[in-house]
This record gives sequence, C-alpha cells and structure tokens, in this order.
Amino acid sequence: MNWADFKREANFIDGAWVPADSGATIDVTNPATGEVIGTVPDAGTVETKRAIAAADQAFESFSRTTADERAKMLRKLHAAIMDNQRALAELLTIEQGKPLAESMGEVGMSAAYILWFSEEARRVYGDTIPSPWGERRILVTKQPVGVVAAITPWNFPSSMLARKIGPALATGCTSVVKPATQTPYSALAWGVLAEKVGYPAGVVNILTGSASQIGGEMTTNPTVRKITFTGSTPVGKILMKQAADTVKRVSMELGGNAPFLIFDDADLNKAVEGAIASKYRNSGQTCVCANRFYAQAGIYDAFVEKFAAASAKLKVGSGLEEGVVQGPLIDDKAVAKTEGFVADALAKGGKVVTGGGRHERGGQFFQPTVIANASNEMNFAREEIFGPVAPVFRFETEEEAVRLANDTEFGLACYFYTRDLGRAFRVSEALRYGQVGINAGVITTEVAPFGGVKESGIGREGSKYGIEEYLDMKYVCLSF
Ligand code: ADP
Repeated sequence: MNWADFKREANFIDGAWVPADSGATIDVTNPATGEVIGTVPDAGTVETKRAIAAADQAFESFSRTTADERAKMLRKLHAAIMDNQRALAELLTIEQGKPLAESMGEVGMSAAYILWFSEEARRVYGDTIPSPWGERRILVTKQPVGVVAAITPWNFPSSMLARKIGPALATGCTSVVKPATQTPYSALAWGVLAEKVGYPAGVVNILTGSASQIGGEMTTNPTVRKITFTGSTPVGKILMKQAADTVKRVSMELGGNAPFLIFDDADLNKAVEGAIASKYRNSGQTCVCANRFYAQAGIYDAFVEKFAAASAKLKVGSGLEEGVVQGPLIDDKAVAKTEGFVADALAKGGKVVTGGGRHERGGQFFQPTVIANASNEMNFAREEIFGPVAPVFRFETEEEAVRLANDTEFGLACYFYTRDLGRAFRVSEALRYGQVGINAGVITTEVAPFGGVKESGIGREGSKYGIEEYLDMKYVCLSF
C-alpha cells in the first residue's frame, strides 16, 4: 500500500467509514507547502455518542477474549505497521511536516509500543493474599476498565495513539479516539490497520471534528470509564474538571519546560550532541524538548559557541527532501509565537548567536536559533517554546542550577551532563521531574515509563507500569 491508501477522509465508527451527520468537513493542510491535502469530517456530540455506544457494545465480547488472543492480534497489528512503515511515514510527514527519517522513527516507535503491549498483555497477573480468616480466601484480579476515550496531539500523531490504543487492546478495553485536527490522517490510518488485522467492529473508533464537542461528550458520558489525553496543560485541566462529575480514571501527559544542565565537568562534545538532539527533534515541537539550557560559568562560552555552530548546520526544508533535519512548524500561529519569544528575549538583553527568525524559505519555516545571555525575566524561562529556539542561561553552583531547574510548575523531562558520579546521583534525586536523562538528550523508549509530575501530568505510558492505567483491581473474598 502507498500513503494515499491510508488517507481516509471519513470517520471510523462501529467498523464503518462514515461522514459527519451534517456532511460538514474540515480542510487538512501540508505545513511545508500550505496546500490543502484533503478534508476530514467535522463531527460533534451526536457522532461521539454513537461511537461510545459502539465501543460499549463491543466491550461485551472483546473484554472476554483471552490474553493470548489479544496478544496474537497485537502481533498482527505490529506486522501490519512495519509492512507499511514507509507509507505511514510519508503520510505523517505530509500532514505534520517532520523530516521523513523522523517519521520513519515515529512509525517504528508506534510498532514498538504495539509489540511491547502484545507482550505485556500476557503478564497481567493478579495476586493471592494470606487470609486473616481460616475459612476465607483472598484473591486480587485485574480487569479492563471499560470504554476508553483518547485525545491526542499533532506533534506525534501516530505514536501517541499507539501508547493509548496499545494498552487498551492488550487489556480488552475498547476505545474512542480523537486526534488533533491538524494531523488526522495518521490517526485514521489506525482504522485501516484495525480492519486489516480483523478487530471486531466498535473495538476502535476514530472521530475528527469539534474538540470541545467531542471532548465534552467523552468526558461527561458515563459509559466512558477512562480518559487519556496528551496535549497542553490548560486543555488537560479542562478535561480533568469535566471528567470529575462521572469520576473517570484519567491519564494526562501535559506540557513541559525541560531544563538541560551542562556542568563544568561535562564532556562538552557529548553535551552539544545531546543538546542538538533534545532541542531540535521535530523542530522543537515535543513536550520533552529542552526548553532552558543552563551552562556553568566555566564552560558557558565554549558551550554556546559549539552549540550555535552545530545549530547553524541543521538543514531546514520540506520533510520529504533529502538531508533535511528541520521541517516547518505546524502552523502560522506557532511561527508567530516562536518569533515572539525571540523578540521578548532581545528586548530584555538576550543575544542571538545564530538564527533569530523566519527562515529564508518563507512559509512556516524557522531558523534554528541560539540565544545567549538568557535571563529569568524572559518569557521562555516560564513558558514552553515549542519551536527551534534555544536560550542559554548561566549558573555558578550546583545548588543554584537545581533551584533554577525546579523553578517551574512543570515536571516532565530534564537532562544534565556531568562526569562526576556523586553529582549524577545528587542532582538526579533533587530534580523534581518524571524523567531524567544523565549524559543523554533523548531517552524515550517503550520499555520505560513516560510521564510527568506537578502540572505535567498524571499517570505513566509505556513500560510494565503503563498497562496498569487500563486495569481495575478487584478484590474477591471467597468464604467456605
Ligand atoms: P496543542 O497546543 O499541542 O495543540 P492542545 O491541548 O490544544 O495542544 O491540543 C491537544 C488535543 O486536545 C487536540 O486533539 C485538540 O483538538 C484537543 N483539544 C483542544 N481543546 C479541547 C477541549 N476543550 N476539549 C477536548 N479536547 C480539546
């Protein structure tokens, strides 16, 4: 199959490809060219109710399949993804903009999550507990939570679904999914994949359209027992408030403001390599991208110089062009916001060392930018940049670095570079984050728990812990 075979301009509800009831559609554009590449249905509350009812009905039998059956289906799904890796990656780049190599990586990551959960499906163990009563026995079992609603963002339109659909399919949950409006096709492609594998109608449902209507129904409909969301902290808060009335389980992967500390004793070349990988992945549009670089005074100038030189070499262009490592930003709003961070920094004494504005290619392309003399008054000290701008702050002591790194309401990922073993332990324990990279700038893998503390979220995805979010514990007391 090629990418066009996966591009569906319909919603996937109860095993059928359907338009919105009103017939209304939304345009989808290619961020590299601004061209409209197609439309998707503009669905709302009514279609969401229908999808939830279909998922509820499908749950009756799907929740009773054996772990072995579910594992086998997930292995088929993994194979279907890998057999079509290139086509799915092309579709992803066309709607999202990231370089093809990154899209291939993302689709590979989606497959890796599915394979991981095919393995975990067979390891959902219960427990027996020594009874305090002679004639009673105590058992603990795990059961699927029920219908799961998932809302996903545009920066990883395939793998964020894999992290949610994977554990749902592994445990016997059914799901209703709403992808971001900017990147719906990579999500709808999961409907094509589900059909290929032969999942029964209603096990996976995918809707595009009004975020507030679809999200509103998902969070308030009593049939939905869990809501899993990846996106911004403000939207996550809305969803948690809405889900409170029916006391749903929630998993929230929200915003970050990742610090990246470089100590005097760091391997500088390795730190620069890590900084480039961490900052510029997906043109800075990931929630674990380094947002604030803190370099210790002794190596500050050397780090800035090497980092800026490496940043200047990154090739910007359409993700489908050979050798491009920096694609366009997702939309005009993102470009304007990124420009705003640079203007604010310049007004407050920041110095552009490389880049500094829109790229000469025009459109939504932005130059990889390094800003020296960053200070705490600048907006990026508090806010997530989500673009290819790297501010470098200066610090003197380890204690100061930890204090600055923790001075945020976010707590998703953080990174630091040091060759001192004692410091590696001290600092990793002191940083209030869900994920820490020591001498490593990219650390995500399906085998480790992804998630944050503080306002960066609740719950973990991937790893042996991720499956628990889709299971309810049941205590059974047997008296005889
Ligand atoms: P981003 O800044 O990455 O676009 P958002 O949190 O705005 O993050 O979007 C992430 C996902 O949440 C998208 O699928 C978006 O459509 C959806 N979304 C946005 N607003 C709402 C809302 N009020 N209710 C439910 N979903 C929403």
